[in-house]
Amino acid sequence: QKEEWAKLKDEPTFTKDGEQVELVGNIGTPDDADGVLANGGEGVGLYRTEFLYMGKSEMPTEEEQYQAYKAVLEKMEGKPVVVRTLDVGGDKKISYLDLPEEMNPFLGFRAIRFCLDEQTVFRTQLRALLRASAHGNLKIMFPMIATLDEFRQAKAVLKEEKEKLKKDNIAVSDDVEVGIMVEIPATAVLAKQFAKEVDFFSVGTNDLIQYTMAADRMNERVSYLYQPYNPAILNLLHNVIEAAHSEGKWVGMCGEMAGDPVAIPLLLALGLDEFSMSATSILPARTQISKLDKSKLASLKEKILSMGTAEEVVSFIKEKIGD
Ligand code: PEP
Ligand code: MG
Repeated sequence: QKEEWAKLKDEPTFTKDGEQVELVGNIGTPDDADGVLANGGEGVGLYRTEFLYMGKSEMPTEEEQYQAYKAVLEKMEGKPVVVRTLDVGGDKKISYLDLPEEMNPFLGFRAIRFCLDEQTVFRTQLRALLRASAHGNLKIMFPMIATLDEFRQAKAVLKEEKEKLKKDNIAVSDDVEVGIMVEIPATAVLAKQFAKEVDFFSVGTNDLIQYTMAADRMNERVSYLYQPYNPAILNLLHNVIEAAHSEGKWVGMCGEMAGDPVAIPLLLALGLDEFSMSATSILPARTQISKLDKSKLASLKEKILSMGTAEEVVSFIKEKIGD
């Protein structure tokens, strides 16, 4: 099996019927980029920058962050690198940021909500990112976007920092795509409107599933409700992908679901463009995709979306792909 995987290491990713998708890796540190390359990743689909801030006693400086982002971009040699701005809060605590205890941290003051409020933290990160953009193919992604207004505000702050850097004659790329995580149901429902303003979406299924099913992703007692294949989730994904494509934008997925062999045929059926996963899942996924017929899967889409339960979806797709 390993040999079969290795054959596809330096190949692009095609389905059996010749449709191309992109397989990229999730990373938490610059060193993780080596693992993505060693496993044939075509880029980085999610750089979780929290790790730069965690396990330290103070904020990482602009320079420290610039060095980290630049290191990843240089290692990836022009391949796309999607960097997510700070997603603090929820399950991710950072001691020196002194965030208040909350009744419902997953529904609280986190990610872009925190960054738009604590703008010095946000601006420092954006400046580091913009400076790094001169060294590779950077895409910037905002986490936990719930409203268009949040996206517009975040983009405006980014624009201001870019203009400041340019005025100081600091090199900044003019081709940085700016996108959002789709991990809040409201955003998935309103994808059509968002698609007009973003450059791309990346679906964060880890959170999207917990918020859609109202089931804490860390709570074992309700884990039976954490259902990636629930038609409610699949219909949301369908809405997001259709909306993006109708505006000529691409859609990735960087939640765990993207690397799940049961989900992959479903995601191909829905037309997902980019799959971002842990490095070790990339070659198994490329091998699996090379044996799947996208147009055949797409022809099953309406039927899958009209199903009532996750069990129905799973037994149907397993039967169809002959598993
Ligand atoms: C997600 O929510 O799916 C995601 C990729 O982000 P995180 O797991 O870091 O919340
Ligand atoms: Mg998330």
